[in-house]
Amino acid sequence: MSLQNLLPFNTSHCFIDGEWRPSVSGGVLPLLNPSDGDILCEIAAGDADDINAAVRAASAALDSDWGRFTALERGRVLARTGALVSENLDLLSELEATDVGKPVTQARADVIALARYLEFYAGAADKVHGETLPYLDGYTVYTLREPHGVTGHIIPWNYPMQIIGRSVGAALTMGNACVLKPAEDACLTALMFAELARQAGLPAGALNVVPGTGERAGAALASHKEVQHISFTGSVKVGELIQSQAAGNVVPVTLELGGKSPQVVFEDADIEAALPFLVNAGIQNAGQTCSAASRILVQKTIYNELLNAMAEKYRGLRVGPAADDYEVGPLISASQKQRVESYLSQDDQLQLVASGVIVNKAPEGGNYVEPRLYACSDASHILAQQEIFGPVQVVIPFETEEQAVAIANGTEFGLVASVWTANGARQMRMAKQLRAGQVFINNYGAGGGVELPFGGVGKSGHGREKGFEALYGFSTLKTVAALHG
Ligand code: ADP
Repeated sequence: MSLQNLLPFNTSHCFIDGEWRPSVSGGVLPLLNPSDGDILCEIAAGDADDINAAVRAASAALDSDWGRFTALERGRVLARTGALVSENLDLLSELEATDVGKPVTQARADVIALARYLEFYAGAADKVHGETLPYLDGYTVYTLREPHGVTGHIIPWNYPMQIIGRSVGAALTMGNACVLKPAEDACLTALMFAELARQAGLPAGALNVVPGTGERAGAALASHKEVQHISFTGSVKVGELIQSQAAGNVVPVTLELGGKSPQVVFEDADIEAALPFLVNAGIQNAGQTCSAASRILVQKTIYNELLNAMAEKYRGLRVGPAADDYEVGPLISASQKQRVESYLSQDDQLQLVASGVIVNKAPEGGNYVEPRLYACSDASHILAQQEIFGPVQVVIPFETEEQAVAIANGTEFGLVASVWTANGARQMRMAKQLRAGQVFINNYGAGGGVELPFGGVGKSGHGREKGFEALYGFSTLKTVAALHG
């Protein structure tokens, strides 16, 4: 059955003001299947006209039904949307697996995470409140948390559902009206999400989805004068652009721009417990994860033992079509494959230790890359510094705790880090010293749970998503001071 027949909307339409409609220009883009390179369907090539219509619809929603929803009602509509997400688990997982090239089990985990975000934010909607503040005699002073207004959400192709959950979910909770620009490489679950929110009773205009390229639809949204907040997840290069565009309108931005996250393993660590976390955090979603642990720092005394154990795991990794659910799927696009492969050479500081295997039945046209494990003796090597966004990990030796901190903190990024050690005092010291938005001790939760604030320092970006922290980010604080004598 064709994809279009499975879906209750036209894949080549935008979702604006509660309706499915073609882009103003009528333009479309092909959506490619990463597992075989075939065209899956067409999507709308939205541009500035569509973004204008979406922003107008969002502004109007704030002045009508959506703007009048109480916090409790907002929570309830999010809860109903979450229930519909769960009911559509099979369809959403299949869509995400096909569109992103993500092994089905991993895609299912993303649908479950989206439902969990909506559950969390639905429950939180009527629990975010202001404060009363002590002030001069004769005054009563309090604060109100208010929505920014129209929020723009520019998201990438690697985890559409999770990023919609943490960004659009939190923005709607606080009463903002959203314009979502999904990535041109994968946007089907974003469209399906809009349809489910509509079915759940989200008023027209509260959420609008405009697919299209970054250069046209994305740039039009980021620079729009009536958008009061922008959240962006993607590359550093585009993040810089978006921040400068938002600066032109003096609006706040939340940027989540990836990383080069380290897992630091000391000689007293429980290696058996660590092993699956070390490898999975590098190859999950074929390494196309902002919080991928692409650097493994290992104390010299256990370096060979750990490297061999990881190599063993790598040799067992199979790479194949998303639907077949191997450990690793294809990369999102031919250009991403080319980019990743351009990094993969060896030299005196970098030795290939082990790689996984592309299964025989993997179609020619798919974007398959063998996962690769490298031993790296130079922490300043390009492969140990730049975000590759592919299934590639480097293992770097260190001798002392001080050295481990210096190497771990020695990139431009700082998103997530972990430390593996049985020594409690060292756990606390490392957690303080590691430069990252999240630190895990004796575990590694790529991105962490929905409850845990997430975001980076340095070139990993700024602002926090997830948990209650996101709700503060998606609202603005008003102070009211009443003099009553
Ligand atoms: P990735 O490397 O993950 O593809 P990008 O930063 O290129 O990351 O893309 C992330 C999102 O940003 C996508 O939705 C993309 O369309 C959008 N985007 C790309 N270029 C621009 C731009 N100049 N302005 C606004 N959005 C953009």
